[in-house]
Amino acid sequence: MKRPVVDLRHCKMCMACVEICPEVFRCVDDSYIEVVDLEIYPEKLVGEAIDCCPCDCIYWDENESQRTSSSEL
Ligand code: SF4
Repeated sequence: MKRPVVDLRHCKMCMACVEICPEVFRCVDDSYIEVVDLEIYPEKLVGEAIDCCPCDCIYWDENESQRTSSSEL
C-alpha cells in the first residue's frame, strides 16, 4: 500500500498540506505534521499537497505499511 510521508526534517509548518487535505495531514500540538492512518489515500488531494508544499517534503512511500509520518533517519 502506498502512503504519503512527511519528511519532518524539512517541514516548515506552513500548514498548506493541512488546508488542502485535512483528512490526511494533521497538525499535532502545533509542532509537527502527522499523516493520518487510512486504508486508502485520496491521491489527487495528496498530489495537490505535494505540489503545494514549499519544502518538497511530502512524498509517496510505495512500500509503506504501518509507520507513522516521520523522517527516516
Ligand atoms: S505543506 Fe510541507 S512544509 Fe507545509 S506543513 Fe505541510 S509538509 Fe510542512
